[in-house]
Amino acid sequence: MGSFTLPSRIAQLDWGRSFNYDRDMNCPLCKKPMRTILEETPADRVELDLCESCDGVWFDKSELEAVLGVRNLSAFSRESPLLTGREASFSCPRGCDALTLARHLATHAASDAVTVNQCPLCEGIWLPGSERNRLVPQIHEERAEAFVGQNPDRARMGVGTWLFMFMTGLPVEQWNPLRKRVVLTPLLVAICFLVFLGQISSENGLMQFALVPAQLATHPLTAFTHMFLHGGWLHLVSNMYFLWVFGDNVEDRLGRGRFLALYLLSGLVAGLTHAALSQNPTEPMVGASGAIAGVMAAYAVLYPRTRLISLILFWRVRWRAWVYLGMWLAIQLFGIFSSNVHVAFWAHIGGFAVGLAFAWRYRPRPLPALTPNSAS
Ligand SMILES: [Zn+2]
Ligand SMILES: [Zn+2]
Repeated sequence: MGSFTLPSRIAQLDWGRSFNYDRDMNCPLCKKPMRTILEETPADRVELDLCESCDGVWFDKSELEAVLGVRNLSAFSRESPLLTGREASFSCPRGCDALTLARHLATHAASDAVTVNQCPLCEGIWLPGSERNRLVPQIHEERAEAFVGQNPDRARMGVGTWLFMFMTGLPVEQWNPLRKRVVLTPLLVAICFLVFLGQISSENGLMQFALVPAQLATHPLTAFTHMFLHGGWLHLVSNMYFLWVFGDNVEDRLGRGRFLALYLLSGLVAGLTHAALSQNPTEPMVGASGAIAGVMAAYAVLYPRTRLISLILFWRVRWRAWVYLGMWLAIQLFGIFSSNVHVAFWAHIGGFAVGLAFAWRYRPRPLPALTPNSAS
């Protein structure tokens, strides 16, 4: 029997089709009620229990075989060679009054092994949220690839989209569904719009909050405040468009706390980089673009194979996200040597560098391959 990679089926646990609350079973770690998700498998429909707090999933006996499409129903039983290693851990959530055993799903490379917990009595398997989230990025990438292959012209590619791209020169994203509801991205967009309304209704446009490199020492807070101000409607709307397109997926993948840290740190480093290297130290600098550059860099790292579509004259061109965003970075690097002193290229580069470093450890990595060695 050949080997197979931990298949995309596990990814469907992220988009369960229907649910109700199962009060009978609590997460073994969080102790909160788990959500029941209905999972369609090649042979059957299986109900799985998902903890929305820690992302862990419980498979009752033989459910994992069904989800993975392994026909051998003893493949994940207690004596199966697919499960190796033994070490007691937390209690079985089915109430078996037994400690689960920490086990590895057998793989070619031990370092890649997926660690699960199995109840020695009911033989149910707990897939910890950390392990599942480790698998999700690569599965997402594989799905994006399949989507592009099968549906090259679907998803926001109508006349309206074409006109939008033609009029604005902005790119659109082809396929990148969210797993969770995002909150911070729309909130940051709303804040920037509100602050801009404050700017146009105040006498000096709130310019005391702008970053002036020569005055940074006496006004250190402007390294932070400048990223919520904008120089005009066009500046605001184009920045917010990029934040809207790239921010939601980055927030979704990183989680809210890390996303906010990424955004603020990128904006801060962008401001400091500009202050240190700008050739125009008395000109005030405003804008979220340094922070957004960090978000764009994180997007390129987290979703490298996702497609962005842009127009070249009249023709649609589909770019890998990492290629498109890499070209954007190259333009900023060339910008340093241009005569345009009114664009804060150094700020963009500083923010982008933060995003790369920040997101690197969350990049998608190849999935471990399972080798079932008992025949079905
Ligand atoms: Zn939990
Ligand atoms: Zn049990």
